[in-house]
This record gives sequence, structure tokens and C-alpha cells, in this order.
Amino acid sequence: MSSDARPDFDAVVVGAGFAGLYTLHRLRGLGLAAVAYERAGGVGGTWYWNRYPGARCDVESLHYSYSFDADLEREWDWTERYAAQPEILAYLNHVADRFDLRRDIRFETTVRSAAFDETADVWTLDIDPGGTTTCRFLILATGCLSDAQVPPIPGLDSFAGRWYHTGNWPHEGVDFTGQRVAVIGTGSSGIQSIPIIAAQAEHTYVLQRTPNFSIPARNGPLDPRVLRETQENYAVVREAIRQSPLYFPVNFDPRGTLGVPDDEFRSIIEDRWEGGGLGIAATFADILMSEQAAERVAGIVRQKIRAKVDDPAVAERLIPTTYPFAAKRLCLDTGYFETFNRDDVTLVDLRDGPITGIVPEGVATGQGTIEVDAIVFATGFDAMTGSILRIAITGRGGLTIQEKWAGGPVTYLGLAVHGFPNLFTITGPGSPSVLSNMVPSIEQHVDWIADCLVHLADHGVDVIEAEAAAEREWTDQVHALGDMTIFPKANSWYMGRNIAGKPVGFMPFVGGTVLYRQICDGIAESGYPGFSLGARVNQPA
Ligand code: FAD
Ligand code: NAP
Repeated sequence: MSSDARPDFDAVVVGAGFAGLYTLHRLRGLGLAAVAYERAGGVGGTWYWNRYPGARCDVESLHYSYSFDADLEREWDWTERYAAQPEILAYLNHVADRFDLRRDIRFETTVRSAAFDETADVWTLDIDPGGTTTCRFLILATGCLSDAQVPPIPGLDSFAGRWYHTGNWPHEGVDFTGQRVAVIGTGSSGIQSIPIIAAQAEHTYVLQRTPNFSIPARNGPLDPRVLRETQENYAVVREAIRQSPLYFPVNFDPRGTLGVPDDEFRSIIEDRWEGGGLGIAATFADILMSEQAAERVAGIVRQKIRAKVDDPAVAERLIPTTYPFAAKRLCLDTGYFETFNRDDVTLVDLRDGPITGIVPEGVATGQGTIEVDAIVFATGFDAMTGSILRIAITGRGGLTIQEKWAGGPVTYLGLAVHGFPNLFTITGPGSPSVLSNMVPSIEQHVDWIADCLVHLADHGVDVIEAEAAAEREWTDQVHALGDMTIFPKANSWYMGRNIAGKPVGFMPFVGGTVLYRQICDGIAESGYPGFSLGARVNQPA
């Protein structure tokens, strides 16, 4: 592009999930020419792709929803404590319609590459279909859990039946009636889908490599009175959430676990178990900080699991023992452990013999072949970096994001990357993102970026770039904080350990959303220290 030509757009947004939709709305409000490209055929992101049976949120819907528009808050009636995928997708479609967002979204369009032109300070994108487009600002709303992974198990092509990944589920649904089904994976997606698949299939084999801690969701219809009261008082409710370190209400006891007498401790944790929800991990100050503290909670949770499973040998196999409580993402379930009391469900513990391949008849393991008609991969995602690294992004001096992050992601605030000017990541690695209720985290990032763009315009600045030193210092802090917690003790996707060859390191910022927001706000108020702000190299004629 010649240095005096205007780019096609002020900003391009990649993705049309919770993040992309709100970004587009804010950019429009600033009077910017913006477009969003979305690989999917519709809006929704996570909630477009993950249509597997039982998919629902595990942060309460009253909180897992946008707060940016008071009318939207009042007019949308959630029906359950944790809405199911169709309802969340309907909500996001409603948002797209209500704010007339679709006219600036190109669906079924993938951004393949983006290159920064240093002579014009413009991003040039290769989009498919569509060719080339240019923009001043590139905003990656590509999602932390959007790059679904089918493990590289040999022989999948030879399988005589049908196979599915939870993160790319057929829109028409799947009828497992009369079928023998193997579900591979017992993370949140497996734990949500297995009870429903088991209720339908002729026989369900659950292939478990690592057992997971799961807490009862205690889902149910939302009490209309609670809904109405929340809608009438949303400003107060949202402010309380803004002051919570996870962006959802937690009944936090500031004491350290180890100082609490046994009886009291048990009664508090049992209370949390009865209430259900992820907040159990934040019951005491040190659960996520100390293996000993986490173990005290784990002891009670293990007893609860034993009480649910009739066969003691099966129960022991379902009980996690090799990593601290909550060091892998906690799961919420509805009847997961009880499912193993069914005659038509078999737990296949892969620690007795791993999967060796897929054969026409089913899944071959070190314990023999499990003959099935269908395989469900509930095997997760290349989290936090996968969808960014799938785009060939080239910054200053020909440096690619793949080269830059070869040793693991480095960012400033999880929002920007040195060497990649005018590029922002939403809930990127180095921000609280997946350790929080993600909708408020998304809103915080989008608002920060929007305010930043206003600042740049007001000060005649065209180019913003994270400085190398600030980025290094921030990333070191993210790692140092992570090392103070129990998270590195598990083979989790937080650590990148679920993907062969992926650099290992704790990716999110664990200091909490409140501290993080204060840091971001402080940086904005102080004129963006840690960022270099510049005029364009070549001003248009
Ligand atoms: P996404 O919703 O992932 O959207 C990203 C979009 O970008 C996708 O549609 C993708 O197709 C598109 N895209 C990516 N790359 C490209 C490209 N190169 N070109 C074009 N388009 C591209 N979080 C919570 O806080 N609470 C929950 O209860 C919760 N439940 C979850 C349940 C499931 C099953 C999963 C998988 C995740 C869940 N999460 C939850 C995390 C969830 O991902 C976020 O809450 C939120 O939906 C993320 O929104 P997003 O817009 O950032 O990303
Ligand atoms: P996940 O947590 O990464 O779980 C993947 C599962 O597949 C694990 O049990 C893993 O075992 C197993 N697995 C992977 N490769 C395997 C292989 N080659 N052989 C055998 N087993 C294999 O993925 P997920 O369940 O899709 O969840 C990802 C995240 O999305 C969650 O942590 C959560 O943040 C979000 N989510 C939320 C909800 C919700 O309730 N709202 C629902 C779904 C997802 P190992 O543990 O041994 O690696």
C-alpha cells in the first residue's frame, strides 16, 4: 500500500463471539469504520461451535452476560441458573440484532494472515474468501478456547463409524440412540456431555486419562423473583461483581485454610458443595496458593465422590489424586459421577493402557479394542494462543508472532505485543481471562482499548506499540505470580501441557481481576507508560 493511501478500515476485528460483538459495537460508537471477520456462519463464538449435549455455562447467567447496556440487561430473561448453549447463542444473536451488528460482520470468512506495513503503519490482511484488506488497528477477538483439538491418534481415517469433537458439534445434533459410543476426555466438556450421551446411547464407554474434580452445578430454573430483583438492581449487582477478584460473586473467607478448626472447615466446604458452583475454589485465601490447603478441600470432595458412586473400585478411579484441587480448571456437573452407576456405562481407565490407535471397529487401547459406532472427542483446545498462532501475523522487521512466541506467549498486560504495533488481543495470555468470568473481563479489555483509541486520536497519535522492557517485566510478573500458586502442579491447558510440543508456562495473570483492572486503569491515566506512542511515519498528503 502506498504511504499516502487510506486503509480500507480504521479497525478490523477478528471473531464475533462475546468479544468481537462488543468490540464492534464500541468501535462504531467511536465513529470508526470497522468490520469483523468470523470463520463461523453466525455470531456466538464458543456458543456457536460448542453445541454438544449438555453444553451450558458454569458461571451463573445473571453474571455471565453483558453489562454495557441497561436496557439489554432488563429485557433479557434468563430461564436457568446456568443457561444452556441454545439460550446463550439466542442471547448473542439478540445482541447482534439489537445493536444492528451483522451488517459489519463477514461470516464464513477466515483471516489467514496479517502483515504490518512499516512504511504506511497499516495492517494488510489476507482474508478467505475476499482477498486483501487493510486497516489501521487489528483487534484479535479470536477466543481463548476456540482452537478445538482432535489428538493426533493414528488411524482415525479408518474408523467405520462417525466421530465428533465437542467444540465443533453438528448443528443438526446427533442421535446416539442404539449406538455404542466412546467419549474420550473427562474435562468440563466431557463431564457435561457424558450423562446426556449415556442416557441416550445403547452403551457408553468413558475413556479417562486423568480424573477431574467436579462440583455439583445445582442448576435449575431461575426463580422469577430473583431474575426480576436482579434486573431491577443490575447496577448494584454489577458493581459488586467488579469488586470480586473473579468477576463473579464469591463468598470469600480471608482466613488461611490451615487455621480453621476441622469441624468448622468441613461445615463451610460442605455448605459450598451444597450450594454448588466454582466459588468453592475461592472459599479461603490460600486454596489456590498452598498444596496443603488445596488438599484439605480435596479430602472432603473425594468423600463426596465416593458417596455418589456405587462401585468403590470405580469411585477410586474417578477420584483425582495426582494434582492439587482446582489446579486444573474445576468442572461443574449435573449427575456426572452418578452416571457410572448405570449398567450401560463403562469407565475405561487409560492409566491401565493408553489409546494406541483408532481402528475400523473403534478405539484400540493397551487393554484391548473398544468396539463402538461413534467416538466423541471431548479433548479440549489449544488454549489461549492456538487461535492467534493459526494466523500468520508478521510485525515489524518481518518478525512473525510464531517466532516471537516460540518460547511461550509474551505480552504487555495480555493486550499488546512488542513488535506488533496497533494490534490488540482481547483476554490474551497475560491477562486474567480464563481465570475469571470472561464476559466482564472481555468488557474491561474492550473498554480499555476503546478508551486508548480515543486517547490516540485526541493526541494525534497513530501508532501504539508495547515496549520491549514493559512486556518482559509484565510477562515475568505473570510467571512469578503463577509460580506462587498451585497451578503449575497440574498438566493443564492453563500450562500448555495438553498440546504436544507447546511451550510450558502458566499463561493467565493470576493476581485477580480487581488488581488487574487497577493496573490497566493506572496505565491509561498516566498516559500509557510501557507503550511507545508515535505519529505515523508517513502522513497522508
Ligand atoms: P470465542 O467465543 O471463542 O469467539 C472467537 C471467535 O473467533 C470464534 O467464533 C472463531 O470462529 C473466530 N475466529 C478465530 N480465529 C479466526 C480467524 N483467523 N478468522 C476468522 N474468525 C476467527 N467462560 C466463562 O467465563 N464462563 C463459562 O461458563 C464458560 N463456559 C464455557 C463453555 C465452553 C464449552 C467453552 C469452550 C468455553 C467456555 N467459557 C466460559 C470460555 C468462553 O470461551 C468465553 O466465556 C467466551 O465465550 C469467549 O468469547 P470470545 O469472543 O473471546 O471468544
Ligand atoms: P479439557 O479441559 O482440556 O479436557 C480435555 C480432556 O481430554 C482431558 O480429560 C484430557 O485428559 C483428555 N484428553 C486429551 N487428549 C487426550 C488423548 N490423546 N487421550 C486421552 N484423553 C485425552 O477440555 P474441555 O473439557 O473441552 O474444557 C476446556 C475448557 O473450556 C474448560 O476447562 C473450561 O474452561 C471451558 N469449558 C467450560 C464448560 C462449562 O462448564 N461452562 C464446558 C466446557 C468447557 P488429560 O486431563 O489427561 O489431559
